[in-house]
Amino acid sequence: MLIPLIVLRGGRVVDPSQGLDETADVVIEAGRIRSVGRDAGAAYQASDGVRIVDVSGRWVCPGFIDLHVHLREPGQEYKEDIGSGLDAAAAGGFTTVCPMPNTKPTNDTRAITEMMMARAEEHGGARLLPFGAVTKGQKGTELTEMADLREAGAIGVSDDGRCVMNAAVMRHALEYARTFDLLVSQHCEDHHLTEGAQMHEGALSTRLGLRGWPRAAEDIIVARDLILAEVTGARYHVAHISSLGAVRLIREAKSRGLRVSAEVTPHHLLFTDDALLGYDPYCKVNPPLREEEDRQALRDALADGTIDCIATDHAPHSELEKDCEFEAASVGINGLETAIGSTFQLVREGVLTPLRFVETLSTAPARLIPDFEGGSLRKGRRADITVLDPEARWILDEEALRSKSHNTPLLGRELMGRPVMTIVGGDVVHEQGT
Ligand SMILES: [Zn+2]
Repeated sequence: MLIPLIVLRGGRVVDPSQGLDETADVVIEAGRIRSVGRDAGAAYQASDGVRIVDVSGRWVCPGFIDLHVHLREPGQEYKEDIGSGLDAAAAGGFTTVCPMPNTKPTNDTRAITEMMMARAEEHGGARLLPFGAVTKGQKGTELTEMADLREAGAIGVSDDGRCVMNAAVMRHALEYARTFDLLVSQHCEDHHLTEGAQMHEGALSTRLGLRGWPRAAEDIIVARDLILAEVTGARYHVAHISSLGAVRLIREAKSRGLRVSAEVTPHHLLFTDDALLGYDPYCKVNPPLREEEDRQALRDALADGTIDCIATDHAPHSELEKDCEFEAASVGINGLETAIGSTFQLVREGVLTPLRFVETLSTAPARLIPDFEGGSLRKGRRADITVLDPEARWILDEEALRSKSHNTPLLGRELMGRPVMTIVGGDVVHEQGT
């Protein structure tokens, strides 16, 4: 039930959209931010229509947004569905998630986009803003009806899971998407260079006897696409950037003012291919975990804004597809409920300032979504808010996961920093401990 008025009292308000990092109250009324200020909530008392929440010691942030998730519906509901995915999102502190279109069938039509939006609406909780496909059936040849997708609610297009390999198709996709202001998110992988690949190509893949996925397969596509993005003036986005070379290319393109952006996953910020030493299928991802120099480059680039945002690439898989021998295992990590608890260490380590951390999870992805109101706690805005406890230390318990799947290498590990309250449009959709 929507409480007419909520006062979040005495928290540390971290709002990059206003450069705000100070102790303040946040007052929410009728689903919107009524006021933010040192004693903005002092006059209120708890009653039927007023809820006072003491958030001292906690961070109050504009709602977190995940530009890259896989919710598996329609078609693979045994891994996840829209309801369980949105519950996992809310528990992970996300107020908005953007599912990729590699469902079964592919989200390449208005009907499927509308069905997904309706399912989300019916379930409630976190917002769902889907990506439609770039090409019909993600086959890489014929463009989708992007006008229809946009009208139905898609915020971008992507063939994620596959790369748009044909340069002519990609060029037309960028031109077409530009007309509708859709973000074009590319899974950058030259598939000819990665056939049969199991992990990053390097000294370790040789040692482990596994076929490698070279950095060049990513860099070549990023380089080509940046040329096409410049020619077309479209909004081009690199999904799950993982290589040092791709970072360099994005940095150079941004320095020339191109409208390009990039996201990085928590696992590429945290792990290297060393994690595969024990052939752990839970660390098998695409693009693969790379080397220390890549990880360092990704961290630096996230700090300096070359990489815009963190996105989980939440990829739930059943035990059947993950608890098996390495070469047979599916790629992907279940990420929605661990993203904050795993990346908050970047703040503790001084890699990201508090403002930059919140920006990478909220204000920056909000800017990439066309006509989107989120990413800010300004007065009058829709009250999408994430409250997190920066001091929390917690062990990731498999049983507590809201996601239907449990494929994460972080099970049983201690995490630091935890989302404790998720508010969507003034509605508390998740509260830690309830
Ligand atoms: Zn991908």
